Amino acid sequence: MKYIEEFNDPELAKRLLEDIHATATRPWTMMEVCGGQTHSIIRHGIDQLLPGHIELIHGPGCPVCVTPLEMIDKALEIASRPGVVFCSFGDMLRVPGTDRDLFRIKSAGGDVRVVYSPLDALEIAQRHPDREVVFFGVGFETTAPANAMTVHEARRRGIRNYSMLISHVRVPPAIEAIMRAPHCRVQAFLAAGHVCSVMGTAEYPALADRFGVPIVVTGFEPLDILEGVRRTVRQLESGEHRVENAYPRAVREEGNPAARRMLEEVFEVTDRAWRGIGVIPASGWRLSKAFREYDAEHRFEVGGITTRESGVCRSGEVLQGLIRPNECEAFGTTCTPRNPLGATMVSSEGACAAYHLYRRLGGPARGTEPVREATSVG
Ligand code: SF4
Repeated sequence: MKYIEEFNDPELAKRLLEDIHATATRPWTMMEVCGGQTHSIIRHGIDQLLPGHIELIHGPGCPVCVTPLEMIDKALEIASRPGVVFCSFGDMLRVPGTDRDLFRIKSAGGDVRVVYSPLDALEIAQRHPDREVVFFGVGFETTAPANAMTVHEARRRGIRNYSMLISHVRVPPAIEAIMRAPHCRVQAFLAAGHVCSVMGTAEYPALADRFGVPIVVTGFEPLDILEGVRRTVRQLESGEHRVENAYPRAVREEGNPAARRMLEEVFEVTDRAWRGIGVIPASGWRLSKAFREYDAEHRFEVGGITTRESGVCRSGEVLQGLIRPNECEAFGTTCTPRNPLGATMVSSEGACAAYHLYRRLGGPARGTEPVREATSVG
C-alpha cells in the first residue's frame, strides 16, 4: 500500500535505531501527547527497541480519556431526557460516568446514536425537526474544525434543533501544565502530527524556549516515531531545544488556514478541566458568543452536577505519565476493556487499552538493558 508500508520498512527502522543507539549517551525522558502515537509505540514495541536509558512517557493524548467526569455526567443527563437524540462517536458510549454510561442510557430507552461524522448528527437534526439533536463534540485541535463546521452549517441551513456539548481541548497549554507540574520528569516532547497539521507549529517555539525542551513534530507510523525520537535525542545530546518538523508530508508551519479560520469564527478559547489533571488555563474551546445558542450546556441547563470519581482508577496518574498502566493494581484484573473502570481503558486511544491489547501485562519497562536488535518493527 502506498504511503503506509513505506513507513513500516524494517531495514530503515533498523538504521534509525542504530543511529539512536549510537547517539544516546545519557538517560533521557520524552513524552508523546497523542493516543495514536502511544498505540503505535506499544503495538510495534518501539519503546522496547530503544536504548534502556531512553524513556517514553505516555502523556494526556487521548481525547476521550481527558474529557472530565462532569462533562460525561452532563452528556448522560442530556441523553436521558425525552425528545433528545444524543449523537456521539462510539468511544464515548462506554466511558464510565459517576454511576452509568451512555450504553446504559440507550438500553433504558434513550435515543443514543453512534455517528461517524458530526455532519451525520446535523443530517439527523434536519430529518427530525421535532427532536432535539445533540452532538458530543470531544477532542483535540484535530476534530475541532469539523465540529465547528456543523454549527456554522446549522446556522446556514436554518437548523434550530441542533446543538453541541463541547469538551474540546488544546495541546500547547497542556504541555505548559505538564512542564510546570512539581514532579515533572519530561525533557522533550514528540508533538502530535495531526494536531500540528491543523494548527501549525507557531505556538511551540515559545514553549521550547521557556522550558528548554526540544519539541519534535512526529507522525504515527513506526518510522515516523523512530525519526521523531532520533531527532529528539540528537537535540538533547547537543543541548539544543528547538521545534523541528519530522512529519513534513502532513505538517506545514502555518497548519491548515481554512480549518483555523473556522475555529476562530465559531469557537473562543476558554479554561478547560482535563480529567485526572484539573483545570488548565486557556486549554479548551467553547462556542463564541455569536454561536452560543447552539451550546447544549446552555440549552439544557445542566448545571449543578455532583460527580464522584472511582476510588480505584489511577487514570489521572496514567495521563500525567506518573505511572504506567500496568502499575495500576486494577489493570487486567478488575479493569479490562470489557469491564473498564476508567476512560483510559475504554478508548481506542487510551494508554491502558493499548497496554492491555498488546499484552504489556508485566511491571514497568523503565531502566531495562538496551535491546539492540530491531526484530518487531514493521
Ligand atoms: S487500568 Fe483501569 S483502573 Fe487502572 S488506571 Fe487504567 S483505566 Fe483506571
